[in-house]
Amino acid sequence: MTRSWWGWGTVEEAVTGAELEALLGRVRMLAPGDLTGHEPPDVSALGLPAPRVSAPTALADLCSADPADRAGHAHGKAFRDVVRNLHGELRHVPDLVARPRRERDLVDLLDWCARDGIAAIPYGGGSSVVGGIEPRFEDDRAAVTIDLGRLDRVLEIDPVSRAARIQAGVFGPRLEDQLRPSGLTLRHFPQSFEFSTLGGWLATRAGGHYATLRTHIDDLVESMRVVTPSGINESRRLPGSGAGPSPDRLFLGSEGALGVITEAWMRLQERPRWRATAAVHFADHAAAVAATRAVAQSGLHPANCRLLDSAEALVNAGVVVGGGVLILGFESADHPVGTSLDRAEELCRDHGGEIRAGTAREGTSDTWRSSFLRMPYQRDALARHSVIAETFETACTWDRYEDLHHAVTQAARDAVRKATGQDGVVTCRFTHVYPDGPAPYFGVYAPGRWGSTVAQWDEIKAAVSGAITDNGGTITHHHAVGRDHRPWYDIQRPDPFAAALTAAKAALDPTGILNPGVLVPAP
Ligand SMILES: Cc1cc2nc3c(=O)[nH]c(=O)nc-3n(C[C@H](O)[C@H](O)[C@H](O)COP(=O)(O)OP(=O)(O)OC[C@H]3O[C@@H](n4cnc5c(N)ncnc54)[C@H](O)[C@@H]3O)c2cc1C
Repeated sequence: MTRSWWGWGTVEEAVTGAELEALLGRVRMLAPGDLTGHEPPDVSALGLPAPRVSAPTALADLCSADPADRAGHAHGKAFRDVVRNLHGELRHVPDLVARPRRERDLVDLLDWCARDGIAAIPYGGGSSVVGGIEPRFEDDRAAVTIDLGRLDRVLEIDPVSRAARIQAGVFGPRLEDQLRPSGLTLRHFPQSFEFSTLGGWLATRAGGHYATLRTHIDDLVESMRVVTPSGINESRRLPGSGAGPSPDRLFLGSEGALGVITEAWMRLQERPRWRATAAVHFADHAAAVAATRAVAQSGLHPANCRLLDSAEALVNAGVVVGGGVLILGFESADHPVGTSLDRAEELCRDHGGEIRAGTAREGTSDTWRSSFLRMPYQRDALARHSVIAETFETACTWDRYEDLHHAVTQAARDAVRKATGQDGVVTCRFTHVYPDGPAPYFGVYAPGRWGSTVAQWDEIKAAVSGAITDNGGTITHHHAVGRDHRPWYDIQRPDPFAAALTAAKAALDPTGILNPGVLVPAP
């Protein structure tokens, strides 16, 4: 398989043929526009500037100046990244890509960067959707991207406490492959699982596929080892601790700005043996939301509790329904889960939900799952045909949900009309639900204009981010802050905390080389 330099995943898995025709057919019905296809440019035609630095001799064999390597590490994998790649618009490219083989190499690389004032960007799978790995700075300093892909091993498994010591650069599938013989699993499955790493998940506080309880990677961490320019920070393995503020909490979500995570002890679980799923149809969206809240507050803790609104159900699961579909799933390694599903279904029926016995128990959730994994490939195919197809996400408390949903949907629709002159489609689903609120995830699909879709999307994104912030939501539930969410993160974050974070950055990274501009202003 060949990794795509410009888009998601591998070249071989790209959407082509009948799948592409069907996709474009659906788009023509929903949002007609100019759907001419455009080929991605060849890396040799990009005309990248020569690297501004060269590695010291002792580090030279860790560093690559290969144009394909540099281009492939320049942008993350958001819609705006993919489109800029398609246009050959690579304004900020790392000068070198370094691949440490061991922790000592990493220490030497950081020493060199600190000495010469070079920015160092920690890099896992490069699946950031918030400009987290892009060497875009206020000044024009040189940048070395530190790709941790060679640190990809499970080093130790403790079957008694059920935990494993794992290197940060391991991708999801290879991580699970190494755990499989032990019968244990990390059970963290973000949509980007195949092409993102443990270190990236920790550094962005990623959200997995499971809808309740341990939703974020944070909940699975026992201890972490982080290399900072000021020294190595390793926390103690503990099941819980009340000893002051948690050191791990400082580095979780630190987005490469405070240190480079090299390994972590992660909590494992047995692989589930019992499963039960159902799809519940609702005629009314408010009733569907009320039912979802009842399940979230019931203490049943479903593994999946994903409410799709009617537009999302139609676009991504092919289901026509007035108020939405709630996909429920329970699983356990220890006991049958049928009774939990029965009780959740009862709660849904109380709110007018209709359980589609037989086909729906399997059908909708399976259709949804396979479409879920194809979504990023389809997004890229749409981008090649000038369709704006992007998502954004948040979380809020239940009491604010209705207002937030209304304001954000309206802001998205108005912004699409203003930016494109046409009506687009705005969808919403809950990716995670908590007893005190949901994490709504919105999709926007609109016909764009080739050459302008990034500017059009940026306009829409600014409008929806403002609506989220004004209505009590967080600028991100799990996509992280990066460079693109900074303006709204700065509003959301309390000032004393901003001062403390800036001081922490100065203490850990005194020369300000680590991912400058992410989380706090570059010094
Ligand atoms: C199609 C698609 C689906 C996605 N689905 C999800 C999802 O379901 N849930 C979710 O949470 N996110 C999702 N994302 C966003 C992205 O996958 C996550 O943010 C992921 O955690 C990034 O991991 P990565 O290894 O690719 O990190 P990268 O993109 O390489 O880096 C992300 C950030 O972490 C820093 N970083 C990376 N590795 C380290 C390290 N070892 N030490 C210190 N800092 C480091 C980088 O500097 C950067 O700031 C999705 C993205 C795409 C494109």
